[in-house]
Amino acid sequence: MSDLIPVREHLDRVLATIRPLGIYEQSLLDACGLPTAEDVTAPIPLPAFDNSAMDGYAINYLDVVDATEDHPIHLPVVGEIGAGQNRILALSPGTAVKIMTGAPVPSGATAVVPYEWTDRGVAQVRITKAPRQGANIRRAGEDIEAGDVLISEGNVVGPRHVGLLAAVGRATIKARPKPRVVILSTGSELRDPGTPLGSDSIYDSNSYMLAAAIRAVGGIPYRVGAVPDERKVFTETLHDQLVRADLVVTSGGVSEGDYDVVKESLKSIGHVWFGRVAMQPGKPQGFGLIGDERIPIFTLPGNPVSAYVSFQVFVLPAIRKLMGCRVLERPRYTCRLTHGLSSPEGKTQFVRATYDARVATPVGGHGSHLIGDLAESNALIVIPPETTTLKPGDSVEVMLLDEEF
Ligand code: AMP
Ligand code: MG
Repeated sequence: MSDLIPVREHLDRVLATIRPLGIYEQSLLDACGLPTAEDVTAPIPLPAFDNSAMDGYAINYLDVVDATEDHPIHLPVVGEIGAGQNRILALSPGTAVKIMTGAPVPSGATAVVPYEWTDRGVAQVRITKAPRQGANIRRAGEDIEAGDVLISEGNVVGPRHVGLLAAVGRATIKARPKPRVVILSTGSELRDPGTPLGSDSIYDSNSYMLAAAIRAVGGIPYRVGAVPDERKVFTETLHDQLVRADLVVTSGGVSEGDYDVVKESLKSIGHVWFGRVAMQPGKPQGFGLIGDERIPIFTLPGNPVSAYVSFQVFVLPAIRKLMGCRVLERPRYTCRLTHGLSSPEGKTQFVRATYDARVATPVGGHGSHLIGDLAESNALIVIPPETTTLKPGDSVEVMLLDEEF
């Protein structure tokens, strides 16, 4: 057991090695999904000027305080302002100006009377209800003041931020690019979905699953697909791919089997640590730097569940570090367990589960080939190394696999 290294220690080593990618000025839409690399401040207030919240008449509210259905007040209409027009700068007392939603409110106007309270008069307007002072006027700066921080460094830009940044006139922001992740499956038994399957082969699910998971965290997956267990082919393929990689993820070929070529091949092109992490599933792990550019590489185990769990625990935080995210690891939540569980001493166990309303229900068996159970799950229960038994109703920690954070 002594050669097993704790999950935390392996992850800390990985994260200490990964350097965030360089910062570029990116267009708003390209930056969506990425953390900003700057505190973005507002160059202008929002609204930028006092404007009307309704279609109606700009007036001085003191002129119409006594207006009712029975005693309407009549004012001359001296002009009209549409959105995008700024012709009338001042309102004279005792007059009204027709105004459209979003149009600048003339100085001297202290309220906008909506159409519904008027006869929509052209030369003269009949007003039947008194507005409050300031009614239906959106004040400059009431939403955002110039200089306000709109999104702070390290926070991920989402569609609503994009709207806000566009609203203050920002066309670009500083962000790190989406990490390009090359994915390589190893195994002479692997076939691509959509092609015939011999009696001795299986479909390559890992490269698809990992590519989808990489896309979901905001990376750009380059799925190379499966290479056979041949040292030369593996090394050449990897070498060819390095030019477009910020990170490489391989699956399979790192166990003790006769055809496990990954370890041997990587000796010649980099410094990669191979070892055993105190976890289940996902014990055989490898991580290091390869090629002249010292590109980080993860060599994940081949069993699909092991590969997926390893991705969530080690690769996802590494991708988020490349992107410059502030929070790297999936948050964990405490919840209640429905069924009893046993767990090996000295290993962190990640149990597939469904999570709903602060209750976690384990799904299926332990086998790391059980991809059906994996697909049914939306969470991993994390059982620490010192815990060996859990009873129904015990509290446990879970990682939510579809959660954005
Ligand atoms: P390995 O780590 O190469 O010994 O693979 C462990 C198990 O996972 C074997 O049963 C492999 O056939 C299977 N496996 C490896 N790679 C993949 C893959 N890309 N897709 C699906 N299963 C795989
Ligand atoms: Mg293999």
